[in-house]
Amino acid sequence: MTPLDQLAALEREITDCRKCPRLVQYLENVARIKRRAYRDWTYWGRPVPAFGDPGARLVIIGLAPAAHGANRTGRMFTGDRSGDFLYKQLYRAGFANQPDSKRAGDGLVLKDVLISASIRCAPPDNKPLPEEICNCLPYLERELMLIRPRAILALGGIALHTYLDLLKGQGFIASRAAFPFGHGASFQLPGDLPRMFAAYHPSQQNTQTGRLTPAMFASVLRKIRKFLDG
Ligand code: SF4
Repeated sequence: MTPLDQLAALEREITDCRKCPRLVQYLENVARIKRRAYRDWTYWGRPVPAFGDPGARLVIIGLAPAAHGANRTGRMFTGDRSGDFLYKQLYRAGFANQPDSKRAGDGLVLKDVLISASIRCAPPDNKPLPEEICNCLPYLERELMLIRPRAILALGGIALHTYLDLLKGQGFIASRAAFPFGHGASFQLPGDLPRMFAAYHPSQQNTQTGRLTPAMFASVLRKIRKFLDG
């Protein structure tokens, strides 16, 4: 099996996963009850696979699918305000062919970037439990082994910690302490590990309060582009 076939098989495996009963029950409930504005939708209501270019040099790690966003559309960051912000920025930075992401099959193609997450099921209140992140970590690990990116962008502290915990488990780092989260932070990791970048998560909580502006996010993407093309 080629790495591409292996990645496709892994993503199919993820969508069938039911390791976290609390999350499975929650996302199925959300899919059944729906939000009034989306009552005509058939919600995805399952774990959401990674989305993007399988040959990507950049992997973006988000937190989790949104209950009425990716859990509805079945595609990472698709159908919610965070995604509206993120894809517009990726388009401007040349990582996407269009600025909008409304539904799967809308023609959006990512270039040189793949979007994954700390966990693949929408958690209540966007708050996964530590054991749920732990359950899901092997999927991220396997994805990264197949894609072998040159750079990783963690969106928010939880995504950064998830990736650092993975490296700790693999014996590459002793602790997270040397890699504190900060918007625009970047770290050289040991050996030939990808370069690590961090940014605030483009949640409404951050973008509507001005904690994260388009200019701030664009600046991180420019840094990454310079690194990849340098
Ligand atoms: S969060 Fe991950 S490990 Fe848990 S059920 Fe969803 S896909 Fe499976």
